[in-house]
Amino acid sequence: AKHSGRQTYAFYTQELTLQARQRVELGAALRQALELGELRLHYQPIIDLASGRVLGVESLVRWQHPGLGLVPPNVFIPVAEESGLIAAIDSWVLAQACRQMRAWQQAGIHLDFIAVNVSSRLFSRGELDQYVKDVLEETGLQPRYLELEVTESAVMDNPDNAQSLLHRLCSLGVRLSIDDFGTGYSSLLRLKNLPVHKLKIDQGFVAGLPEDDDDAAITRAVIALAHSLGLTVVAEGIETPEQAIFLRRHGCGLGQGYWFGRPAPAELLDWRPRPLP
Ligand code: C2E
Ligand code: CA
Ligand code: CA
Ligand code: CA
Repeated sequence: AKHSGRQTYAFYTQELTLQARQRVELGAALRQALELGELRLHYQPIIDLASGRVLGVESLVRWQHPGLGLVPPNVFIPVAEESGLIAAIDSWVLAQACRQMRAWQQAGIHLDFIAVNVSSRLFSRGELDQYVKDVLEETGLQPRYLELEVTESAVMDNPDNAQSLLHRLCSLGVRLSIDDFGTGYSSLLRLKNLPVHKLKIDQGFVAGLPEDDDDAAITRAVIALAHSLGLTVVAEGIETPEQAIFLRRHGCGLGQGYWFGRPAPAELLDWRPRPLP
């Protein structure tokens, strides 16, 4: 069964667009997964590139399906968006992340933030601030510890709606971060007027560092832009010490990637400062 599970999984990930029938089946399985508790959160450390300290974590959802194995979020999040399950998943993720952060605080582990991804579909629907408000009340987490990651494209697809939603979220006291930055053609004027705290340089650019001239130029430009707007920059997808060195040298404050630590279940996280290259 394990073997066929792997094959199915490989098949799903190879296909860029799933067949309609497969999407329906996966959607039904996902609905069950929520009820059966098959979703899990993993957490990836985010490191201060100057000190090596773990400043925060990003929560990343995992679906452990008994037959299919580990279904990656790139596969099931789009299915969830189509089948209308995304709101339930995102609110489960939000609540779980906030509960975990509270548990760490109570255990004496003090992080600056826990980051949670928000799907573009939920973001474009606009009731996100209500979800967030409810979850903060339920879990008792202080808003300043929660950071929401919204992709640049979700923001720029409908900038007027995004702007008012981001302002409502900001007035709840949570922090906002623009994910996959550099892939979505932001206008500078827009960016200046958004109440965001962080930009996350897309890992596609980090992958080419330090050799690729275009990736290096774009990375430096994003860092400079962030600084001129008073924002913190995070680079994701750091896999080599050379990438970390390049980023630190060009003023990138925070870093995340396999080189510092893979996403892992809460109990397996390593909180020790990372040796810096
Ligand atoms: P993302 O938000 O850009 O997350 C970063 C992805 O890069 C994660 O993949 C992470 O495991 C992976 N990653 C981290 N470090 C490295 C590295 O050094 N090298 C490489 N090659 N990859 C690295 P993951 O967990 O498979 O998630 C993929 C995407 O699925 C996320 O991209 C995000 O868009 C979405 N996603 C994940 N969790 C959630 C969630 O809870 N809610 C929503 N709405 N979307 C989620
Ligand atoms: Ca993210
Ligand atoms: Ca990202
Ligand atoms: Ca990305």
